[in-house]
Amino acid sequence: MRLDKLLANTGYGSRKEVKKLLKNGSVTVEGEVVKDPKTQVNPDQQSIYVHGEEVHYREFIYFMMNKPGNVISATEDLHEKTVIDLLHPDDAVFSPFPVGRLDKDTEGLLLLTNDGKLAHQLLSPKKDVPKTYFAVIKGHVTEEDKRAFQKGVTLDDGYQTKPGFLEILKAGERSDIELTITEGKFHQVKRMFEAVEKQVSYLKRISMGPLQLDEELALGEYRELTEEEVLQLK
Ligand code: URA
Repeated sequence: MRLDKLLANTGYGSRKEVKKLLKNGSVTVEGEVVKDPKTQVNPDQQSIYVHGEEVHYREFIYFMMNKPGNVISATEDLHEKTVIDLLHPDDAVFSPFPVGRLDKDTEGLLLLTNDGKLAHQLLSPKKDVPKTYFAVIKGHVTEEDKRAFQKGVTLDDGYQTKPGFLEILKAGERSDIELTITEGKFHQVKRMFEAVEKQVSYLKRISMGPLQLDEELALGEYRELTEEEVLQLK
């Protein structure tokens, strides 16, 4: 790959900034100063240094974010703050994008990566990746709702959902529940509760496949996935 692309992808700045670094003679490949941004390099076989520090190239990055309720799951937007705006510039340089969408007012687990293949796998309807949500529901959630979700409910557009597993944590005028579904239709959890004539007043995703939301992350915080978490996802 091109040396300037590699350095920009590794967090050494924009292509323009990287060009400057190269021009200054700050970059060596196999011990030789290299100034041409177009130089082809193989980061697996060649040692590359910037200011005497070895460059550890990573093609892919994976972040787990605890999404807050005031940002949208998009990479850019003219009017709204996005989850990408919450990233440190050193992390945003890898051009991650959110894997799937959470509604603006939904909190919780959001995976951000630049690994398109993994994102595709996780979002593929064929893969049936389970996603678990914690929700607060206006109204008394019942065993009947549980059975209805297990069978699949009909949404407002006529779509019949696949089975969902509902766990009632606290039933009352306000109920706390956990719902696991393997699909990701627009507003799915909210519309499933509408199908049983109830309203979601708070929604938070707590898991996606093998990935659990790290409770140490405050709203708006994120961290890199561990190697083990990445392997589990693949
Ligand atoms: N279901 C919803 O209704 N909203 C979300 O953000 C995610 C799942």
